[in-house]
Amino acid sequence: MSTKVLMIGVDGATFSLLDPLVEQGVMPFLSGLLGRSVRADLMSTRHPLTPQAWTSMITGRSPEAHGVYDFLRPAFLPDGSVFLKLNDYRDNHCETIWSIANRHKQRATSLNFYGMSPAPAVDGYIFGGFIPWRHLKQAVYPKSLYDEVRALPNFDYRNLGMDHTEEKKCVQGLHQGEHEPWIKLQNTRDRHWSELTCYLMKKDRTELTALVLDGADKMQHLFWRFVDPDFAKNESGDWQTHIRDLVVAFYRGLDENIKMMVEAAGSDTDVLITSDHGFGPTTEIFYLNEWLARRGYLRWTDIAEDDSVGQLVGDTLKDYLGAIDWKKTLAFSPTPSSNAVFIKRDNGSGAGVTDDDYLAFVLKMQSELLAFRAPGDDRPVVVNADLNKLRGRSFAGPCPDITIRLRDGGFVSTLKSQEVLSQRPSADGTHRPAGIFIGYGPSFRKGVRLDSINILDISPLILTLMGIPVPSDMEGQVPREALLGDRQVSRGAATAAPDTNASDRAEATEEEREALMSQLKVLGYMD
Ligand SMILES: [Zn+2]
Repeated sequence: MSTKVLMIGVDGATFSLLDPLVEQGVMPFLSGLLGRSVRADLMSTRHPLTPQAWTSMITGRSPEAHGVYDFLRPAFLPDGSVFLKLNDYRDNHCETIWSIANRHKQRATSLNFYGMSPAPAVDGYIFGGFIPWRHLKQAVYPKSLYDEVRALPNFDYRNLGMDHTEEKKCVQGLHQGEHEPWIKLQNTRDRHWSELTCYLMKKDRTELTALVLDGADKMQHLFWRFVDPDFAKNESGDWQTHIRDLVVAFYRGLDENIKMMVEAAGSDTDVLITSDHGFGPTTEIFYLNEWLARRGYLRWTDIAEDDSVGQLVGDTLKDYLGAIDWKKTLAFSPTPSSNAVFIKRDNGSGAGVTDDDYLAFVLKMQSELLAFRAPGDDRPVVVNADLNKLRGRSFAGPCPDITIRLRDGGFVSTLKSQEVLSQRPSADGTHRPAGIFIGYGPSFRKGVRLDSINILDISPLILTLMGIPVPSDMEGQVPREALLGDRQVSRGAATAAPDTNASDRAEATEEEREALMSQLKVLGYMD
């Protein structure tokens, strides 16, 4: 038995926010759906970050296997300095479920996923996400779909890009008065992706349809303190109430989008609603590169400026990589979103850590990170420091040497600072490990709550629903307790190498890079 599958990914969705909204009657469709479905926390990748988490969800493989750890990856230049490159489809070393479905003679539609540009050839449709609207064409397969969508009546395809109109203006700092159009734009964007999904399901239904709505992640990064009850009580006043009303209206719109797609999919469809990670507040800033500088691992140049703003939204992108004296630097953090330390290796140049010294070096740094204390505060700030290259497995791509977890769950800052740890001016939203899973449809049990399942379980589950054997190298398990009856799970041969020859597109343009960096900045992924 196999069914059609619709996966609705809601970037950053967390039950800690959705449950109260459901109780308040803001999301009536989701409320009804939850009563007739299986729900569970969906545990994200070890570092709960959007690019690696979505890539793991659609490959069934961990970041060490697929090689996508962050939005950007450091590239080491011959003079010892570092440049940040954008990750794209060609940086994913694992086969996607779209491709696996195709090999089993089933078709797939993939909409607004991170890392799908340049779009690979599939039997079905690809319309990639996280792309500036001027470059959307690169992210679409077949190319005729791009022209078709551009020509749709009452539909502005530019809203599918991540940087259209208000968004482009507001990323420069989101001044008061600009919040309202920015919030409304997130609704408009999510609505456009939902309408495109319905359009394609009606026009030419494929066995698998999957999309990501990314508005919730953006809303929560900026406006967490208006919706988290612990913080909302301090946000009184007319303007604060107005903002909260706008945010609640966004979730009402999200509920309508989900309803529209589930109804369009029809009752013979298994629906999965998933998120790549959860969400929670962050109140502190840990300046990781400043910490490295004080321990002698990193040297600032004379042009390095202090982070005088004390928050992640400024008017210009600071070129902090230019603030590092690379010849005298052994370790650095490339981006706030990475929460990572990269260690420069000596490849014969004499500058960097040798293979012989690596183990002692990385162990010492780990213990120093865990031992860090702020003045007058005995509690650890760095609660976890994973040594990624000593985990007894191979790793693809530029794998960070150390990934840290902070006590408030936040992202680090990479800037120079007077203090290693400081308070944020106001609480922001940041990622948490527990995302959401909801399974609804003919294959799922009803009204069941499971403790948790893993993000690596989603690909095996989708393939099983489609009647496709789960490749032997997928790392997760089918959560059989979510399914009705005695569902057979078959395992098959390993995944195939991904088809990265589909496009000969060059590296991202400077415009594309700037557009993405601006976006990452407003969301706190970049300094
Ligand atoms: Zn995300």
